[in-house]
Amino acid sequence: MTIDAGSVTSRGFIDLEDEHLAHTYSPLPVVVASAEGAWVTDVNGRRYLDCLAAYSAVNFGHRHPVLVEAAKKQLDRVTLTSRAFHNDQLGPFVTALARLARKDMVIPMNTGAEAVESGIKLARAWGYRVKGAAANRANIVVANGNFHGRTTTIISFSDDPAATADFGPFTPGFRSVPYGDAAAIEAAIDENTVAVLLEPIQGEAGILVPPADYLPAVREITTRNNVLFIADEIQSGLGRTGATFQCDNVGVVPDLYLLGKALGGGIVPVSAVVGNADIVGVLHSGEHGSTFGGNPLAAAVGLAVISLLETGEYQQRSRELGLRLQASLERLVGRGVVAVRSAGLWAGVDIDPALATGRRVCELLMERGVLAKDTHGSTIRLAPPLVVTVDDLDFAVAQLEAVLEDLRA
Ligand SMILES: *Cc1c(COP(=O)(O)O)cnc(C)c1O
Repeated sequence: MTIDAGSVTSRGFIDLEDEHLAHTYSPLPVVVASAEGAWVTDVNGRRYLDCLAAYSAVNFGHRHPVLVEAAKKQLDRVTLTSRAFHNDQLGPFVTALARLARKDMVIPMNTGAEAVESGIKLARAWGYRVKGAAANRANIVVANGNFHGRTTTIISFSDDPAATADFGPFTPGFRSVPYGDAAAIEAAIDENTVAVLLEPIQGEAGILVPPADYLPAVREITTRNNVLFIADEIQSGLGRTGATFQCDNVGVVPDLYLLGKALGGGIVPVSAVVGNADIVGVLHSGEHGSTFGGNPLAAAVGLAVISLLETGEYQQRSRELGLRLQASLERLVGRGVVAVRSAGLWAGVDIDPALATGRRVCELLMERGVLAKDTHGSTIRLAPPLVVTVDDLDFAVAQLEAVLEDLRA
């Protein structure tokens, strides 16, 4: 059967997915056909402001010209070599990425979950080879409410029933403690603890920003106990929170950064573990790898992404526009909004649960030309591309205000 895309209505595309796509998502009923900057256009020609930015993978906006040009140029040269051979993009990419992170060594991977998995393997190897943890007894301390990805090992330390039910048996070696409680981390650490793995802000949990002294305390505790501090900045990093890394905002330098999402410029999946050679260098030839990790197309796009971040322009936009977004969202508190948490252009908005679910609010926002995503219960998150304009932001908040007014009427 051939399907002429031009003749299928919006409903038709959704029906095709319903029938032939595993039902692991519940997307809003909008079918995107094209996009530019902070705006997407559906198959009927209707435009929407993208206030999710593919969970921050599109931080620089859809089809940023610098990124598209880097990808097109590389498409005409070479796209995949495997790591069996060198390519002329990978060296410049890892050099630039290490410099951006003020570290010196990179493990290039593809998806965020692979960066997390790589960080876990690296921390264990470091634990046995450098710290002297007992063989096969390494443990890693994580936080309740975490989201680090969807692989079997990663869901082993999730406490979200939807992520874990019927997927066991699980990988041992993880201890989960309350998020935001540094003393609980210290209490969980023993002689076989090799790492503490945290999101500097918990995104999927609802943009939970921990107390300002939390990450500095975690840094102090991990250093004192000879335990690695691994920051999962896959969503919080690369400009989203008004800095290159959210850790920068609280004056903390972790041992390992886990990066992904925006690192691929919204074009290709690119992820990485970034750290210093005394840690990353414990892995030797043949111990870890990825067929696509470090491929020349990914490296060319990743290098272009870093060139955008090196100007500081996007971090500054995120910081300045983020303050405006926070202020205008706060005006809705008491008018359908219960609480607002934000960092840069990343906001979690708790809607009064008596009014509507987060999902319902997102459906109504969609009808008004704004695409956002609910998290748990009645929380919605706003994370527009960092190229969003002041007018765009005002439009988004005005639509939210109108949705809430309608719901309260
Ligand atoms: C999205 C995300 C991941 C997983 O990334 P994928 O590319 O979906 O595998 C891991 N950690 C955090 C904090 C994320 O937001």
